[in-house]
Amino acid sequence: MLHNRQIPGEVQKEVYERDMGKCRICGSSDNLHFDHILPFSKGGSSKVASNIQLLCARHNLKKGAKFI
Ligand SMILES: [Zn+2]
Repeated sequence: MLHNRQIPGEVQKEVYERDMGKCRICGSSDNLHFDHILPFSKGGSSKVASNIQLLCARHNLKKGAKFI
């Protein structure tokens, strides 16, 4: 399970509601993605809402993440 980078549905829901369905950077509600604040590759958890944020595709890509 350690290598499961999938974000559970209940965490997605919590993050979506907390961020009010908008990109945290620009407030866009288009093309949103769940972004790991501490990257999964660096040990960030997918299972806690505190490590996940909503970003639009533009800002998610800007971070240089290799995986969406
Ligand atoms: Zn954005």
